[in-house]
Amino acid sequence: MPLAEFSLPAPVFPPPRVLLGPGPSDIHPRVLAALAAGTVGHLDPYYLRLMNDMQGMLRRVFRTTNEMTLAVSGTGSAGMEAAVVNLVEPGDKVLVCVNGVFGGRMAEVAQRAGGVVAKIERPWGEVFSPQEVQEAIERVQPQIVGIVQAETSTGAWQPIEEIARIARKAGALLIVDAVTALGGVPVEVDGWQIDCCYSGTQKCLSCPPGLAPITFGPRAMEKILARRTKVQSWYLDVTLLAQYWGQDRVYHHTAPINMTYALYEALRLVLEEGLEPRWRRHALQHRALKAGLAAMGIGYAAAEGAQLPTLNAVRIPTGVDDAAVRRKLLERFGIEIGGGLGPFKGQVWRIGLMGYGAREANVLLFLSALELLLAEQGHRFDPGASVAAANKVYAAAQ
Ligand SMILES: *Cc1c(COP(=O)(O)O)cnc(C)c1O
Repeated sequence: MPLAEFSLPAPVFPPPRVLLGPGPSDIHPRVLAALAAGTVGHLDPYYLRLMNDMQGMLRRVFRTTNEMTLAVSGTGSAGMEAAVVNLVEPGDKVLVCVNGVFGGRMAEVAQRAGGVVAKIERPWGEVFSPQEVQEAIERVQPQIVGIVQAETSTGAWQPIEEIARIARKAGALLIVDAVTALGGVPVEVDGWQIDCCYSGTQKCLSCPPGLAPITFGPRAMEKILARRTKVQSWYLDVTLLAQYWGQDRVYHHTAPINMTYALYEALRLVLEEGLEPRWRRHALQHRALKAGLAAMGIGYAAAEGAQLPTLNAVRIPTGVDDAAVRRKLLERFGIEIGGGLGPFKGQVWRIGLMGYGAREANVLLFLSALELLLAEQGHRFDPGASVAAANKVYAAAQ
């Protein structure tokens, strides 16, 4: 194209949004301010101190004393990849529990790492019982078991503690995907003795996407240090990353400095609030949203008793146009929610209440906006009832 025809694209000026989808979530202004701070070198004494303090905060948020706790450069999927490629050697038997998109992704990553993958499956929206995982472990005899605590594609909340006990007893290492769990619901790495747990920054930590917190326990490190083969990914090899995160500070790759500022501030916000109060806040917002939706005749896709507070996957009422409602939420109210994936496409909406996004102002705005749009679609319900139902939950919590 001739240069003369070039016209400079518009400057970056994103429309204001209320992010209530499956991620990214609303970002706290303090995190945005940290992101915009001046960049220092990745070996600057200031930066190294920040890294150390961030590691300390990550351990608190993961509830672990694991030495090997760090943030991988990359999104949540890089955390998944780092967990799998370090722990799985070619030929290792890997059992992956699949009840949605992310369990499926973990199985795919394990296969690419040379693992001999066996899957157990549950219908979307359901969770695994300890018994069925135990039976599968006895049958497959895996070295590694992978499971998703918070399945963002279905809103199902998988209990981990009992499964971790079973895996440990069988001598298998457990990898837990806590991407939509960490900072929103309890994740107890040491308490449940999880061998490897990873997350992402843009879900319940309310930070832009770009880093993946991860922690490896002593049994996981033992396996990694005893590997016969090199980790297939140079970038994600934790023994190399450890030389940068540890005392030696050996250059590996240039850390995303400003993302580290952002995660640092996001973790400060988590610890300032306290983990327990934060979990309670997520639970309360979820209950208010659930009550409000119920008043409009909208129920959940995940099984009762296994519904994540952080990701509310709800059935779209019959006769309502999925795409039109989501488009109007965005155009008229600046609200983003997620549509369904796979078998849930066109069937469910995914409403994220994560981190800074999980607050009254958002729940009440969303419910009133949805009332308006559903009324326009001819969906019948008692006008005003959803906001009233949510307010009742808030009043009872006072
Ligand atoms: C979002 C998500 C991921 C992937 O994270 P990205 O940041 O999109 O790479 C993995 N697992 C779960 C459960 C998630 O919700």
